[in-house]
Amino acid sequence: MKTIGHWIGGKPVDGTSGRFGPVHNPATGVQEKQVALATADEVDTAVAAARDAFADWGTSSLARRTAVLFRYRALLDAHRDELAALITAEHGKVHSDALGEVARGLEIVELACGITTQLKGELSTQVSQRVDVAAIRQPLGVVAGITPFNFPAMVPMWMFPLAVACGNTFVLKPSEKDPSAANRLAELAAEAGLPDGVLNVVHGDKTAVDALLEHPDVAAVSFVGSTPIAKYIQLKAVEHGKRVQALGGAKNHMLVLPDADLDLAADQAVNAAYGSAGERCMAVSVVVAVGDTGDELVARIAERAKGLRIGPGDDPRSEMGPLITREHRDKVASYVRSAAEQGAEVVVDGTGHTVEGHEEGFFLGVSLLDRVPVTADAYRDEIFGPVLCVVRAETYDEAIELINSSRWGNGTAIFTRDGGAARRFQLEVQAGMVGVNVPIPVPVGYHSFGGWKDSLFGDHHIYGNDGIAFYTQGKVITTRWPDPSDGGIDLGFPSHS
Ligand code: NAD
Repeated sequence: MKTIGHWIGGKPVDGTSGRFGPVHNPATGVQEKQVALATADEVDTAVAAARDAFADWGTSSLARRTAVLFRYRALLDAHRDELAALITAEHGKVHSDALGEVARGLEIVELACGITTQLKGELSTQVSQRVDVAAIRQPLGVVAGITPFNFPAMVPMWMFPLAVACGNTFVLKPSEKDPSAANRLAELAAEAGLPDGVLNVVHGDKTAVDALLEHPDVAAVSFVGSTPIAKYIQLKAVEHGKRVQALGGAKNHMLVLPDADLDLAADQAVNAAYGSAGERCMAVSVVVAVGDTGDELVARIAERAKGLRIGPGDDPRSEMGPLITREHRDKVASYVRSAAEQGAEVVVDGTGHTVEGHEEGFFLGVSLLDRVPVTADAYRDEIFGPVLCVVRAETYDEAIELINSSRWGNGTAIFTRDGGAARRFQLEVQAGMVGVNVPIPVPVGYHSFGGWKDSLFGDHHIYGNDGIAFYTQGKVITTRWPDPSDGGIDLGFPSHS
């Protein structure tokens, strides 16, 4: 069986802990690989490599950094297919979806290529007699990234390209469920000329994460994953004096007003609920049907859902692949059963679905639940699978109150032809990312991504301007070049005239 090791100091490094995590092919259910789980000492080795590399990289010229990033961009572009195939083999998502993930990660590399204009700083001249003030941003040092299974390439790329462009060095701890893409990203970065130690990958579980959070040489931590772990990461990182951004889970609502184009809304609800088997933090998991749209909308979603082709991600005919693990698949299925017991109508039941020739794969059909009580577990929890809940609301006000009472606030969307209603929604809804007739409003690379409430802990969203602010610290320099008339004693607080 293939063993996946770490990437430290610019080369592959075998794990020494003797502990391994299983890596399955979710389409067959077969464990094809294992991944080394790092000890605290191995994490220390990676942090030491990053700290040593920072001495040179942190003061390297912008021209040198961007030259590497431009080459990296070209290499990633040339390896899109290969990266997507790696993702499909361990995550299970269909190839086209994996290609989309790589493309969205590349956006951040492209943003990083333009870091020269983002780090220009500010200058005010003559703020007082012969006094100038400059504001500059400098790197933090060693920063760490801890990432989830559902985007094994894109989410790491939300972090390290900008971090290293800003002059930091990086230690990535990817999900142990689909670890190979991270190693390939690091290999390609080395091929692009990124100096040894600037980007390191350590695989592992809580032991490795805790070692990063407690390490005195790690200045900042970016985390993306589930809400309970995000909360834990924030508290522990702050306890250890680190800057932290921790993005958590979600329950994204799509509000459909009676004047919406129902075919468009049904198409988009299906795409956003069942794409990537619902394992997206921006998946639509609840449709809120306002007024008398409910019956017709549910019928149109059901018709489309029943026609979806579910199969292995490397089969071009498949529109939806398997789930990440058998346990997760079974847990998702249990929500469909509990929803029925708790008062929901099961319109489409995907729980018994199997794929011929792949009976041991972690497949699940798509499910559609209507009139889901807000007290049902299927409504209250993040399911993270191909289960779409529909909730009915009499009015817009009732719908927005429902959405705003959710503990999460990642993404949300409104479907309507009424610009006034859409505008009101944009201002009133409590979520970090809002779509108007766009079901998965993931911001482009030069805007920042992040939710509100239990979907994000910390002050900075990820990538875009917030990402650059997160990976740098500000310094303000006040300069006077005196002439002979300056001088003399004055104990008053400096003011400017
Ligand atoms: P997860 O929280 O289980 O794992 C995320 C990372 O944390 C992994 O690297 C994992 O090894 C580590 N981890 C897990 N348990 C830990 C523990 N007890 N202590 C320390 N570290 C631990 O998340 P997941 O299942 O890999 O990913 C799915 C979740 O991620 C969903 O909740 C989804 O909504 C969320 N997510 C959020 C965003 C976002 O941008 N807000 C994006 C993608 C995924």
